[in-house]
Order: sequence, then C-alpha cells, then structure tokens
Amino acid sequence: MSKEEHSGAILTVDLTAIAANWKLLRDRLGSATCSGVVKADAYGLGAEAVGKTLAAAGCEVFVVAHLDEGLRLRSALPDAEIHVLNGAPPKTEPEFAAHRLIPVLNGLGDIERWRRFCAGKGEPLPADVHVDTGMSRLGLPPAEIDLLAAEPQRLSGIAPRYLISHLACADEPGHPMNGEQLAAFRRAHERLPLAEASFANSSGIFLGADYHFDMARPGIALYGGNPVPEKPNPMAQVVRLQGKILQVRDVDTPQTVGYGATYRISRPTRIATVSVGYADGFLRSLGNSGSAFIGDVEAPIVGRVSMDLTTLDVSAVPEAECLPGGLVDLIGPHNPIDAVADRAGTISYEILTDLGPRYHRVYTGGAA
Ligand SMILES: *Cc1c(COP(=O)(O)O)cnc(C)c1O
Repeated sequence: MSKEEHSGAILTVDLTAIAANWKLLRDRLGSATCSGVVKADAYGLGAEAVGKTLAAAGCEVFVVAHLDEGLRLRSALPDAEIHVLNGAPPKTEPEFAAHRLIPVLNGLGDIERWRRFCAGKGEPLPADVHVDTGMSRLGLPPAEIDLLAAEPQRLSGIAPRYLISHLACADEPGHPMNGEQLAAFRRAHERLPLAEASFANSSGIFLGADYHFDMARPGIALYGGNPVPEKPNPMAQVVRLQGKILQVRDVDTPQTVGYGATYRISRPTRIATVSVGYADGFLRSLGNSGSAFIGDVEAPIVGRVSMDLTTLDVSAVPEAECLPGGLVDLIGPHNPIDAVADRAGTISYEILTDLGPRYHRVYTGGAA
C-alpha cells in the first residue's frame, strides 16, 4: 500500500458507514440472520478491515467465494461462521474442516464428495446445499433436486447448515423472475426440509419479508451501493476516491485532448490533469463521459482516460480552488458509486472491485 504523498490518489473507506449499513439491513430483516458477504476482498475494500468491523457490529456469519478468501478471513476472525460459495475443490476438504469453513455444495457430485469426506472423518461436518432456481450458474438443477428429494440418504453423514439459492433480478422489484424464483425456492425447501434457508442478497432484502427466510446475504448494500435502484439510496456512502491534480493549463487555441484526439476544444478551456488512470482501476469507459467534482463544481472528464492520467475540463471551477497538488473527487458525495457506474456503462460492483492496489488507502472509524 503506497503512502499518501507517494500515490496518485487517496481511497478513503468509511468503516463506520459499513457498520451502519449492516445494522440498517439487520433491523430490516427482523428475526432473520444478517450475514456479511465479503468475497472479492470485501468488494475491493479490504476483507480483514471490513470483516472485523462487521463482527464488532454484531455480524456472526460471513460469506466468501473462494477457499483462499475463507482462509484469510479465518485468520482475522477466529470465531466467525464462514461460508464458501464456490465450494470445496477436490482434495481441499481437509482444509475446510481444519479451518471450520462451510462449503456450499453446488451439485450432487459435490454432495457425494462431502458425504464421503464426512464418513472418512466419522463426523457430520456442516455444508450448505445450493439449489438453482433460475441463474443456471451454480447449484443443483431441477433434475438433481428431484433426485435428492427422492434419495435423501445422499446427505446422510452431512450436517446441512443452509439450503440456499440466489436471485437473478432482485434489483428490479417488478420483474416476474422474483416471484417465480421465490416459488421454486419454497418448493425446493419443502422437498428438502433439511436445513434453514437463505435466499436474499442486498436487493432481495428489500423485496419484502417473504424473501428473508432464515438468513440473508447482503454484499453491495454494505458498501454503499443502492439496493433499490428505482428509489433514493437508503445506504450510507462508504467510499471516497480523491485524485491529485498534477497540472492545470489554459487552452485557447482549437486543439484536442488525449489519445485518439477524441475531444476537441473549441473555446477557451482550462484543463486539469489528474494522476489516476485505468491502471489504477479507474475505468477507461469513463473517458468523455464521467465527471469529477471539485467542491460542489462538476468537472467533466474530457478525452480518453489514459493508463496513469485523466484530463478534466475545470473551466467552471474558480482558479484558486483548482491548483496542482489539489484533490478532486472521482468518487464522492456528488458522484457516488452508482452514478460513476452509470457513466461508465457498468454496475457499482465493478467500480468497487476494480479499485486497485495503487491507491493510498485510508480507513476511518470501525474496528480496523
Ligand atoms: C455475491 C453474492 C451475494 C451478495 O450479493 P449482493 O447483490 O452484493 O448483495 C449473495 N449471494 C450470492 C450467492 C452471491 O454470489
């Protein structure tokens, strides 16, 4: 991690906001358990700092994608219940057991391998069973659900923790898939009444109590992404990204900015060059479409985003507020992650998970 004065930009992660977001979701869930999804290094924000913050707020159940992520989280959180979505690759079962990681079993083959491992150990070890209700990605497809319901002994010797499934369209409350998946999940749970049930991601929590079951798995909402895109964001902002101004120049002759000469200056314009580029994880698709803010004033990105540099039209910013060494908000109060994502043609998840190791990171609040 680079030092503030050595780096091109400062990424501030507000751990207090993450804790507040988790509590808001927990309160909304009532009696259902609120876990914390911290896969992909807590969506790029730092799984250890985020994990400890959530644990201090009362979170006891955590979700990661890979075994590696589970092992790292286990060192930070010795007592947490940790679920591994992508399951246990062959031969890694002993590591799951040794570190008390709970694999998600995504098919009958996974179930059979875990059953044999438990039999070999002579103890029923916990695992989740994932049923596919409409993602066609991971989880038991309908034919395997039928088989498992007909032959429940396939699970003998396993200690099922949660029956889980995942929503495809939870961020679109009116989408018919939501009700269809809910019905399919209920049906699967009736036929496989082997465990508690877990269904909702962040947006799913806002679809109503029918979607809550026993445990929810929010990720993006913890990190400030809007789980209800059609409404004002109920979550607190977590991330601020401030780029440093390297140079400011006045251009009063017709000329172009950046690679490909994609932006043409036609009137006197002040250009500020900021030391952030796509190699930092600042998406190239923000060229000629995103905006920075200096105080409350918008400074559009002009020209393409380069590897290490981004150019802004700062003509509207008072000269004294836009000097070399000054900071501009690339993500901030006026351009939160969902707004930046819109301008980049992507989703807030990708904005966060692309935040690179080049940034100087500052954690505020929390239990880091
Ligand atoms: C990533 C993921 C989540 C969290 O989803 P968000 O939309 O970020 O809340 C929950 N469950 C599964 C299976 C996931 O892959």
